[in-house]
Amino acid sequence: DPINPPTNVSTLCPYCGVGCGLEAVPNAQSATGYKVRGDREHPSSQGMICVKGATILESVDQQRLLYPLWRERLDQPFQRISWDTALDLIVKRMQTVRFTQGADGICMYGSGQFQTEDYYVAQKLLKGCLGTNNFDANSRLCMSSAVAAYINSFGSDGPPCCYDDLELTDCAFLIGTNTAECHPIVFNRLRKHHKFNPKVKLIVIDPRCTPTAEVADLHLAINPGTDIDLLHGMGHLLLKWRLIDAEFIDECTQGFAQYIQVVADYPPETVAARCGITVTDLEKAARYWGHAKAVLSLWSMGINQSSEGTAKARSLINLHLLTGQIGRPGSGPFSLTGQPNAMGGREAGGLSHLLPGYRLVKNPQHRQELEEFWQLPPGQISSMPGRSVWEMIRGLEAGEVGCLWIAATNPAVSLPDLERTKAALLRSSFTIYQDAYFPTETAAYAHLVLPAAQWSEKTGTMTNSERRVTLCPKFREPPGSARPDWEIFAEVGRRLGFADKFNFPDAAAVYAEFVQLTQGRVCDQSGISHQRLQELGPLQWPCGVNASDETAQETKRLYTDFRFLTPNHRAKFALEHSRGLAEPVDLEYPFVLTTGRLYGHWHTQTRTGHIAKITKMHPRPQLEIHPRDAKQLGLKPDDLVEIKSRRGGACLPVLITKAITPGTVFMPMHWGFLWGDNTEVNALTHPEACPISLEPELKACAVQLIPV
Ligand code: SF4
Repeated sequence: DPINPPTNVSTLCPYCGVGCGLEAVPNAQSATGYKVRGDREHPSSQGMICVKGATILESVDQQRLLYPLWRERLDQPFQRISWDTALDLIVKRMQTVRFTQGADGICMYGSGQFQTEDYYVAQKLLKGCLGTNNFDANSRLCMSSAVAAYINSFGSDGPPCCYDDLELTDCAFLIGTNTAECHPIVFNRLRKHHKFNPKVKLIVIDPRCTPTAEVADLHLAINPGTDIDLLHGMGHLLLKWRLIDAEFIDECTQGFAQYIQVVADYPPETVAARCGITVTDLEKAARYWGHAKAVLSLWSMGINQSSEGTAKARSLINLHLLTGQIGRPGSGPFSLTGQPNAMGGREAGGLSHLLPGYRLVKNPQHRQELEEFWQLPPGQISSMPGRSVWEMIRGLEAGEVGCLWIAATNPAVSLPDLERTKAALLRSSFTIYQDAYFPTETAAYAHLVLPAAQWSEKTGTMTNSERRVTLCPKFREPPGSARPDWEIFAEVGRRLGFADKFNFPDAAAVYAEFVQLTQGRVCDQSGISHQRLQELGPLQWPCGVNASDETAQETKRLYTDFRFLTPNHRAKFALEHSRGLAEPVDLEYPFVLTTGRLYGHWHTQTRTGHIAKITKMHPRPQLEIHPRDAKQLGLKPDDLVEIKSRRGGACLPVLITKAITPGTVFMPMHWGFLWGDNTEVNALTHPEACPISLEPELKACAVQLIPV
């Protein structure tokens, strides 16, 4: 795309799933030629941004990868090569793997940092033309449990709520989310509403007293792994007190009779003891929920990153079904997405069990629709869900992956059980690593490295947590020979012999093709185009076209008619019991390690590690520990402690704080081996995953502490 003369550009913050609008303003003094500020016209954020969005331009030119690099073996230095050579290497390798192992020997691991256009072209290449569903994204580590919960409870993925509900609720129930630090602008909107409306209740469920919990009317510091106990305990009380919506249950749900039997096993005394809270506080939470006119629940990784993540999210949805709290202003279950475009990834089919337009690999009709649309022979799309990212690791271990393509993500920091992950990556005979930045931890495991253009250097769309699509235009040239991800995938597709499938003149054409696949689906974007987004600003799906005047028709909330997308249009109660942590504590490993983000940093620091203001804010990782535990171990502030799990260890200074529950310790997730020795949290975590969503339990593992 040509760049117009510098002018103010409306775009989206490329960090988190809140999806705040940014305005890039030409500025001759700035090294990048621009400054950014919050975009007051963006409906999701209304001009607000956090420190990450405000400093984004300070990172975009740091440590950039400029040219393709190649080495035959991992112990060799990289050599600069041309794009032509790089693409030939990929095509040759893919053809060899297809011939010798079949297409399932090829795997791609993508990212919620992709724009929707990148996701879509990758799906067409892998799932369509090559016939393997081995495309997974780092969203597997983030919100795949929320996806599975929506599908199983409502018959389809798709968060039902919108951000306006933050200001319309009279009871906000936040579970497993430190919204103040991880989704700051969502929290700003909610907090303002809570602060100025004394009748609005804010309930926070978290083993840590985070900045989110500090301002709550009720903070329940439950024991890690007891979320379902708490939620079923609340269901038990709501039923007992008849604070339920019998009409809604009768007309719009299924499975209620069995649900009554499930929650009968969760009387208040038992639940309070398991959760480590008082019966009074449990009752207070249930009463706040039961007496509210509009209950909005928010959740993120504390629920999703669990070996029972889907069941946890569904148990929360149960409470909404029990009380009819959905489909109305201010109410509903609302998952907060981690990555800026994990939502767009879901829409484009960017997980190994999904196909574009909220379709499922396992559904024969969905496969047929795609085959017809892409003009592929019947049966071309495999009926087998592809490998999740952890199954790719296991595939490397078994020698079943002949070509691994990693793009815009850093698994050598972010996957669980890192020693095992790294050992598997070392076994790969051909790893392509495509990223904007170099070096990164994962680049150390790559044979071929490809420079990608990033935010501000390419045009595309992203969808935020409230289903709002924003156009992110190119307004700067990419450095060196970096190219947009979708263009790289399309070029490989053409060279593999699918020239007619990848003749996209620009990103607008990619999006125009993709939205046809959403028509009539819940994620309908057929009324959205790059041009419309340019003219009208961000639009919220489902967004079809009004037949009479051809205008785009946005939708604020789903299920306002209380008809769900299950075959009988009834939402389903989940019936799973609590199973607790996959790795409970014992005498040898007596502490639960929980993990998470810090306010300023983003994931593995590829961007924020280069921003002085942020590194000053968070100069090093610390292990949060309760004073009681610190005393028992003889630890003083800043003392070094060795932390060990069954898989690996780390060593870092302690931060003694009452913010953490006794018996639990907290470690941030941002430090990979490039940023310090022995501070990788995922050296400790385990890969046990939810059997439905396949999302690993990154939030909890058993550890021992040894003062150094
Ligand atoms: Fe960016 Fe998220 Fe901060 Fe908004 S809240 S400015 S989207 S990092």
